[in-house]
Amino acid sequence: MIKIKKRKFLLLPGDGIGPEVIGEVKKIINWFNNKKSLDFEIEEELVGGSAYEKHGMPITDEVFYKALESEAVILGAVGGPKWDNLEFSKKPERALLKLRKELKLFANLRPAICFKQLVDASSLKPELVSGLDIMFVRELTGGIYFGEPRGIKPIDNGERKGINTHVYTTSEIERVARVAFDLARKRNNKVTSCEKSNVMEAGQLWKEEVQSIHEKEYKDVELNHMLADNCAMQLVRNPKQFDVIVTDNLFGDMLSDEAAMLTGSLGLLPSASLGAKDKNGNMRSLYEPVHGSAPDIAGKGIANPIATILSFAMALKYTLDLDKEAETLEKAVQNVLDEGLRTKDILSNGTKEVSTSTMGDAIISKLQ
Ligand code: NAD
Repeated sequence: MIKIKKRKFLLLPGDGIGPEVIGEVKKIINWFNNKKSLDFEIEEELVGGSAYEKHGMPITDEVFYKALESEAVILGAVGGPKWDNLEFSKKPERALLKLRKELKLFANLRPAICFKQLVDASSLKPELVSGLDIMFVRELTGGIYFGEPRGIKPIDNGERKGINTHVYTTSEIERVARVAFDLARKRNNKVTSCEKSNVMEAGQLWKEEVQSIHEKEYKDVELNHMLADNCAMQLVRNPKQFDVIVTDNLFGDMLSDEAAMLTGSLGLLPSASLGAKDKNGNMRSLYEPVHGSAPDIAGKGIANPIATILSFAMALKYTLDLDKEAETLEKAVQNVLDEGLRTKDILSNGTKEVSTSTMGDAIISKLQ
């Protein structure tokens, strides 16, 4: 078999259940290396609370530069009560924010997929969510979370005022819109762009720039504009109307969480954060489950590894363009769910409880 180019991935397991779920991804990477001759070179480093324990900081410069040089970073999760009272700059979450910011990961992709085997876990009626497949594209490095001026200031009458600034430029909107349109072309060819153009100038600019890039480059893709509050409502009324939703940092934060919960379980949701492509077509990227470090179940061997495994499938698809391999992995997950194997978080009547590592092994057995 012909070996393809060596692919450099950095694994950052992090804290809590992070190392347990990343452990299952390592097994899958080994399987791809052995059976498919995909030459993954993996390095593993500390991040978050575990890095703080060893180095007194949530990410060292050395690890940060390794992330810069890797084709993709696969992260478990960071944080936990042990580090809640650290000063802001030392908190585990700072490592994640630094990686997102310095790697310039401006597009956050969060699929909200409702597996037919798990429709009962959703708070909506099965017919509304069965087969649901929405891709959220959230702008991640701009908008009100980063805009200046910001802060809390005293004012004359003895009160204080809190200030944040919602600001977007043409190029920030265009680059994230392109990600959404490109994704739609590989899916059902439909983009819904959400903003509050009725009450915010930055929202009006968002709408105009998305419309303009659509007219210039993506006329073949269906585009709808929707006010973000209406989108929040439509997501619970008729979520299957959506294919790709593109929106800003603030609305994306809320709407993607809302959509995630339509699918029922945190343990199943992957995500990708992508940067700009360089002149050779390469881009920086970070893949991680949507869930956190789940300190309440850490070390018990019961964490659901599927969100992290599906995050690795996204890395195969979006960083390596290995669509076929990604689909094989996604199908293996579906097959295991079809057989009724479940970790504790998604257990229901008539299904069989398995541990984190048994779930990983079962998925690998379906890859064969
Ligand atoms: P969480 O996602 O860690 O857990 C919420 C609930 O879901 C818990 O009951 C947990 O047991 C369960 N859960 C989460 N993932 C699961 C999985 N894979 N399998 C089975 N059950 C799972 O959220 P939280 O409790 O709000 O936060 C815990 C810590 O994680 C905090 O320190 C928080 O700051 C951090 N956090 C980190 C990230 C990240 O690293 N990206 C994201 C969110 C929260």
